[in-house]
Amino acid sequence: PQPVLAVVGRPNVGKSTLVNRLLGRREAVVQDTPGVTRDRVTYDALWNGRRFTVVDTGGWEPDAKGLQASVAAQAELAMKTADAVLLVVDARVGATSTEEAVAKVLRRSKAPVLVAANKVDDRRTANEVHTLWSLGLGEPMPVSGLHGTGSGDLLDAVLEAF
Ligand code: GDP
Ligand code: MG
Repeated sequence: PQPVLAVVGRPNVGKSTLVNRLLGRREAVVQDTPGVTRDRVTYDALWNGRRFTVVDTGGWEPDAKGLQASVAAQAELAMKTADAVLLVVDARVGATSTEEAVAKVLRRSKAPVLVAANKVDDRRTANEVHTLWSLGLGEPMPVSGLHGTGSGDLLDAVLEAF
């Protein structure tokens, strides 16, 4: 079976946009409305001749227990079922208390965790990426799902992590 990458993060950080970039085609559902991806959606990806599966998680909408609890639950599920986890953060916003909570969960992960600093569309945002080292999950990788910049380096890192 091919390795599985689970993509997790708050609503609206750009998970589905980035997943589209990783797939090289426009398939994952992207909407301006937070929480539009209702379920975990699975895609086949191919990079450097290696096949893998990408799971775009959308179950992070606030439930009865609130956003932070559903975020933590999604991260738990991701690290138990995937071969690698990609935490997507909006670099323009930085790490919120939700990211801090999920990072706390993911620091216990046996599966490797990568951090994508998304929405790095300009130099000013690029200068903020280093602040995400504070999550304790290693080097944050700058990407722009919108422009596609950084996605090749991210894909290389994903394949190395498997
Ligand atoms: P998700 O809820 O995490 O899956 O986020 P989406 O992929 O649906 O994106 C949410 C919003 O962020 C949409 O309006 C996207 O166009 C926008 N977005 C995604 N990636 C980028 C990016 O790299 N730069 C900018 N400026 N906007 C982005
Ligand atoms: Mg989505």
